[in-house]
Amino acid sequence: MSCIFCRIVKGEIPAEVVARESDVVAFLDVQPLADGHVLVVPQAHAAAIEDLEPVAADALFRTVTRLAGPVREALGAAGTTIGINNGDATGQTIPHVHVHIVPRWPDDGAGSVHTIFPRKTSRALSDVGKAIRKAAGS
Ligand code: AMP
Ligand code: ZN
Repeated sequence: MSCIFCRIVKGEIPAEVVARESDVVAFLDVQPLADGHVLVVPQAHAAAIEDLEPVAADALFRTVTRLAGPVREALGAAGTTIGINNGDATGQTIPHVHVHIVPRWPDDGAGSVHTIFPRKTSRALSDVGKAIRKAAGS
């Protein structure tokens, strides 16, 4: 078993665990972007969010929802940025799904999710909407 997050889930390597629930474990990021930077992971290995079983996806988001308030309160933060790097091209470095919960303060120098994109688009919303509806069968 070489996946580092699977090994944390199994307790084979140490981590500062903040919650262990059915199907999900949450622990502190070892290189935190801010105090209280938490990673929430499904216990079952899945590389990308598309690979999650529905029950694992439900449990993952339930734990993120449950921890967002306590993480913010424990650190005296004003809010949290919550995000997933999903796939190599996005900067995902550990191929086991993980949700980042990062506490935020008004003058912390970080931007919103929008600030990571140069905002390059070329297609009409209606065209893109049609393509996604077709792919999703909706
Ligand atoms: P990502 O770039 O979204 O794949 O983020 C992976 C995160 O995992 C990074 O923020 C790392 O600091 C963190 N990380 C890597 N190894 C460990 C570990 N052993 N324990 C806790 N966090 C880790
Ligand atoms: Zn894994």
